[in-house]
Amino acid sequence: MANEREQRKCVIIGSGPAGYTAAIYTARADMKPLLYEGMQPGGQLTITTEVENFPGYPQGVTGPVLMEDLKKQAERFGTEIRFGFIDKVDFSKAPYLLTDDSGREILAETVIIATGASARWIGLPSEDEYNGFGVSACATCDGFFYKGKTVAVIGGGDTATEEAAYLSNLASKVYLIHRRDELRASKAMQRKVFKTPNIEMVWNAIPKEIVGESKGFAKAVTGIIVTDTKTGEERTIPVDGVFVAIGHTPNTQIFAGQIELHDNGYIKTVPGTTQTNIPGVFAAGDVQDLHYRQAITAAGSGCMAAIEAERYLSMKE
Ligand code: NAP
Repeated sequence: MANEREQRKCVIIGSGPAGYTAAIYTARADMKPLLYEGMQPGGQLTITTEVENFPGYPQGVTGPVLMEDLKKQAERFGTEIRFGFIDKVDFSKAPYLLTDDSGREILAETVIIATGASARWIGLPSEDEYNGFGVSACATCDGFFYKGKTVAVIGGGDTATEEAAYLSNLASKVYLIHRRDELRASKAMQRKVFKTPNIEMVWNAIPKEIVGESKGFAKAVTGIIVTDTKTGEERTIPVDGVFVAIGHTPNTQIFAGQIELHDNGYIKTVPGTTQTNIPGVFAAGDVQDLHYRQAITAAGSGCMAAIEAERYLSMKE
């Protein structure tokens, strides 16, 4: 016997600020949303430290606490939150067929995609080799292991500078390695990095290889070889850990061929809205935002998606 398909007015895919805000609004509009938490429940903010720029928290708030608060608020209004992820979508006809990781099928009248983006890697073989043995993309997850040690952070954006600032409180020395001679990060983060005595900038440097040694079954990083982009010179910086913070890739793999994407993989939306090219399918947060990528803009677009989904349904009815 074929599995009975669940019928839903609104399914939200993703549990970052965009997903939970869409859940709060759709739940309050009585759309009885079902939200799939995805591979990383709570999204990218669960692996950050202090969030100081989310309005309403004058003293700042940690990422995990902010996400827990948003989740509770979404639950308070009746959102059904499901652990798991959607791994197949069929947007060829409405209602749209979604299949989750356990094979359960759901027919959704509206879908809000809020799957966010994931950290990018440089692509060096040695980065792979030492991943989990001295190479990380999350200072708050792994910084603890580098108390009193020396680390390198790769990148020049807000993520890299925040990771460097966080690590400077644990490690004895932090090298911030950037491929240009100017940071991309916000001025506030630049100031913070420049005035922290144990952060040293390594300008115009591209990582060539991460080096290390085997310790029985385990491995350990001992340094990073960088190439100077101006002189071509190579040098090895001795470090115990390398944190990669070079940006993000949108999580849109399951939507390829189903929905219009930009060349870089971000979902295309009608400017000023969260509407995709499929009626009733909306995209909110980092998965469709190449420019702002802030928790508050993600939350704002989650609210827009909810309002647009609600209007779409009432127009249909
Ligand atoms: P980003 O702004 O895209 O910065 C990525 C950095 O990595 C850039 O400096 C880039 O160099 C460098 N890079 C990229 N590919 C590289 C490679 N293959 N090798 C070496 N370096 C490479 O990414 P992000 O820092 O993750 O920030 C993403 C967005 O989130 C931004 O809009 C940021 O403002 C926001 N954000 C906000 C907060 C906050 O407000 N609290 C915190 C974190 C992030 P170039 O500069 O030369 O391109």
